[in-house]
Amino acid sequence: MNDENCIFCKIIKKEIPSKIIFEDDKTLAFLDINPISEGHAIVIPKDHYETLEFLPDNELKCLYQTVKKVAKLIYEKLNPDGYNIIQNNYKAAGQVIDHFHVHIIPRESGDKKITLALPRSSASNEILTSVMEKIKS
Ligand code: AMP
Ligand code: ZN
Repeated sequence: MNDENCIFCKIIKKEIPSKIIFEDDKTLAFLDINPISEGHAIVIPKDHYETLEFLPDNELKCLYQTVKKVAKLIYEKLNPDGYNIIQNNYKAAGQVIDHFHVHIIPRESGDKKITLALPRSSASNEILTSVMEKIKS
């Protein structure tokens, strides 16, 4: 299941070059071409799915097994102080390539490469209850 216009599908088919870290039947891990930090890697399923909801459970398991394997490799070989696992879904959340992918981003203490905005105020019980009702309806 491939999309002929998808860059990541082309990487899987080796139609465009990439620095492959790990590959098995279901997944591929390679270096990001615009790395946030040294060793920034991308892990993808070999089948083309746009976002998390479309990825079948069995593929999700294989995918995260590869994420774990590659994260361990990067942590042990490149010795960062830590690493972030980031996975963007839809443009509003920063997704640019419409082929499901997980970022592994090595971090150094205090590098300020990724900053997460802290919540500005706590939500009232009414607001949290209303959200719960929407999710469960
Ligand atoms: P996202 O914003 O989550 O869709 O991230 C897509 C990522 O894919 C970006 O970090 C890009 O630098 C990376 N990327 C795009 N094209 C390539 C490529 N040909 N090889 C490796 N990484 C790529
Ligand atoms: Zn694709």
